[in-house]
Amino acid sequence: MPDQSAQKVVTRFAPSPTGFMHIGGVRTALFAYLWARKNNGTFILRIEDTDKEREVPGSIAHIQESLKWLGITWDYGPDTPNAPFGSLIQSERLATYKEFAEKLIEKGLAYPDPYSPEELEQFRKQAEQEKRPFLYRMHRPDVFEPWDGTKPLRLKVPEVKRYQWHDVVRGDLEAGEEALDDFVIIKSDGYPTYNFAHIIDDYLMGVTHIMRGDEFISSTPRFLSLYDALGIAHPIFATLPPILKDDRTKKLGKRDGAKDILEYRAEGYLPEAMRNFLALIGWNPGTEQELFSHDELVVAFDLDKIQKAGGAFNETKLLWLNHEWIKRMPSDELYEMIRATITSYDSKLAQSSTLTDSLIANIAPIILERIQKWGDLTAMLEAGELSYFFNAPTYAREALVWREDTGFDTTITHLNEAVKRFGAIADSEWSDSEQIKATMWDYATEQGRGSVLWPIRYALTGRDKSPDPFMVASIIGKKETLARLSTALSALGA
Ligand code: GLU
Repeated sequence: MPDQSAQKVVTRFAPSPTGFMHIGGVRTALFAYLWARKNNGTFILRIEDTDKEREVPGSIAHIQESLKWLGITWDYGPDTPNAPFGSLIQSERLATYKEFAEKLIEKGLAYPDPYSPEELEQFRKQAEQEKRPFLYRMHRPDVFEPWDGTKPLRLKVPEVKRYQWHDVVRGDLEAGEEALDDFVIIKSDGYPTYNFAHIIDDYLMGVTHIMRGDEFISSTPRFLSLYDALGIAHPIFATLPPILKDDRTKKLGKRDGAKDILEYRAEGYLPEAMRNFLALIGWNPGTEQELFSHDELVVAFDLDKIQKAGGAFNETKLLWLNHEWIKRMPSDELYEMIRATITSYDSKLAQSSTLTDSLIANIAPIILERIQKWGDLTAMLEAGELSYFFNAPTYAREALVWREDTGFDTTITHLNEAVKRFGAIADSEWSDSEQIKATMWDYATEQGRGSVLWPIRYALTGRDKSPDPFMVASIIGKKETLARLSTALSALGA
């Protein structure tokens, strides 16, 4: 039996493996994790797979991968070989639940349900006709049969009374007798119900704080009656606020973005950003600070700052946070990510000598200005927005002329001037785009900036919109710049 007097904080995340992990589930895991870490406590990942019909294959691996991606590490989980309290997968703990069920039977506090499903349905209908709630305990048999495991086993509510309890987030709560009933603790298939199994496990694992969603509040009186029947104290309850749609009209549903958390990874969100974002849904530090690293969250997190009211899922904020975290990436990781994104978009570039470290370092600021998530870089590449950094552009020669009234001849004159002036810059000074710009600026101002700068931009990038052409020139190098200008001049028949 765990020593509960030691009061070491123990929290758990207890998902049912019924599909992918969505925002709500991960947020619950994060809060439980942060509270354990803040208190140098223990965080447990427990798989609640007692409803075999709803189980989705692959979910357990998916849950673990999602948590790992976000840096939510567990001290004991389904992959822990010799956890002190046995397996962390409930379907592997059936003997334990049976043992506790038998203790309740011995105390006269559990009994097999003698009714057939048809009989129960009859009771239900009768209650409906009489306009009263159906309560199983009104049909409790006078004599309890021995339990042979083939019938559902029900708890006999030890005392029908009003329950009061405290929730660290919601405050003092209470519910009357109508919330109490003789619920099933072990089903006829031998598996315990959630109601029963989680209470036994939380007890055996020494859980001190339960963090979960508000859908469990209405069942709490039943949980309390079971704690009473077992003669054990309940952990501290902390009900997390619901996650609402951005406009706060309702709870976030699948259609509003409550998607698989790993989809965010695929779209190019950083785990730092997602963790930071989730932490701020329903919790706030009480200061203006919005950016929190993992360690800062561990320090700042506190139960008394969890809010009662629902927190909105604000995708714009997620994007903003992601951009902030991308900007804070250590440069080696940043460059590696840029390289990986580019080469996975264009495998030919992976082999070519074009994609040098210095090219990546030079285009990084341009990329950082334009993306909020890594998927945006892929979209930029798909739109050809950066292609001129890797390959000389192609275009129709008419595109080089700024406006009809500029004409080919004037364009040729301007480009020749650029070749002359750029050619005079020493190779060693080429990297400074301001200096390259300075050589052309007076001329451009005098001749009309549009008619001078447009053909230079087009010759270098083949696009109407691009970063400053002098910056592009500085990045692709003097030789390549002059080569592209000369290609443009030939296209114009110069
Ligand atoms: N297995 C429950 C669920 O996935 C967990 C609830 C709890 O944390 O107690 O909803």
